[in-house]
Amino acid sequence: MKYKIVCDVHTHTVASGHAYGTIREMAKAASEKGLELLGISEHGPGIQGTCAPVYFWNLKVVPKVLYGVEIFHGCELNVLNDGTISLADNYTYFLDYGIVGIHLNCYDNVGAEKNTDNLIECMKHPKVNFISHPDSDDTPVNYERLVKAAKKYDVALEVNNSSLVEYYRRINCHENYRTMLKLCMEHGTNIFVSSDAHDPSDVGRFDLALKMLEEVGFDENLIVNTSKEKFKEFINRKNIKFQKKK
Ligand SMILES: [Zn+2]
Ligand SMILES: [Zn+2]
Repeated sequence: MKYKIVCDVHTHTVASGHAYGTIREMAKAASEKGLELLGISEHGPGIQGTCAPVYFWNLKVVPKVLYGVEIFHGCELNVLNDGTISLADNYTYFLDYGIVGIHLNCYDNVGAEKNTDNLIECMKHPKVNFISHPDSDDTPVNYERLVKAAKKYDVALEVNNSSLVEYYRRINCHENYRTMLKLCMEHGTNIFVSSDAHDPSDVGRFDLALKMLEEVGFDENLIVNTSKEKFKEFINRKNIKFQKKK
């Protein structure tokens, strides 16, 4: 494989309500796979059975390194139909980073243009660094607008390995990723590759996503999770920009 991903930053533990590993089991798996950094990103409010917001407040008790792997804490926030995210700022405050995604559990598909407007609105939030799985025709987006806005607001778009797995296979996702990745190269927009693991056995699984990147000859420089340093620099620079504005 041409690309090497050493940070898996979109993963879920038992706290998400429909995932099956503990933080330690996920970290152990990450260590065995040779990852340098594991980001745990439980679902935000809106997904049935996920943790209460108070979960994010107490993440400070979790060791920063487990099994030799650095541990970061994010949240996979939901975009709501009014273009806001599903977690209040007194809780996003405790996150290292934020991922926003459309989930039909708490979102009504309103068509490509309006879906795109709602995601762009979320990108303006200082804690939103990533957009998860913008890849399915059941919640279509306008890729040209999404990719340009991601560049403008310093947000990276995901290539989600789970979306490409046979038993999950999201609608038209191969074709959608091809479109998105070509536009990302054209506009210099960052992406990240993740497993979206809901079980330790999937931590660090990137095979299908990387195949996709090879297929389109994607520019490695635009991938933000090929090293720990690059990942940290990427999430920090939006934080710094925001602090300067205040
Ligand atoms: Zn998701
Ligand atoms: Zn997820």
